[in-house]
Amino acid sequence: MGKLNKTEKLATNGGWITTKFNEVLGWGRKYSLWHYPFITACCGMEYMSAACAHYDFDRFGMGWTRFTPRQADMLLVCGTITHKEAPVLKTVYDQMTEPKWVVAFGACAVSGGIYDNYAVVQGIDRIIPVDVYIPGCPPRPETFFDALIKLQEKVQKEGHDWRWKKRT
Ligand code: SF4
Repeated sequence: MGKLNKTEKLATNGGWITTKFNEVLGWGRKYSLWHYPFITACCGMEYMSAACAHYDFDRFGMGWTRFTPRQADMLLVCGTITHKEAPVLKTVYDQMTEPKWVVAFGACAVSGGIYDNYAVVQGIDRIIPVDVYIPGCPPRPETFFDALIKLQEKVQKEGHDWRWKKRT
């Protein structure tokens, strides 16, 4: 066994570690993103590729796929969104609990992609707020992981929204 660092020694000896509440909260949140996959088109194949054994997004703590928005805090929109689907996407977003984050997966979700026509929403940020945009048609799983790490960094930095602060 290699040398233990200072923190590991403290933990092994039953010592104390001090930190800030917001940092522990951010650390816990970023490694426990429960996602709701809103898959409408071919980007879904790339999502499945990122989820399966070769890439395995569970390594990043997002293995819990939820199929109810009430149990999800990360909305992953993969594929083309038409104007008919837009109200459904908005309802799913509204039903998610706070705090919540949204990822636009692929060119169609980001900007409508190649479908520059009357039927397709030209980017999901016209309906709901987006935290991370993933370019590509479709994006490679590596691109997805790059975006996921960026989202995790964002989640880590977000402080706790204290209710008592809002009252003032
Ligand atoms: S970005 Fe490309 S791969 Fe993804 S849903 Fe649109 S057309 Fe399909």
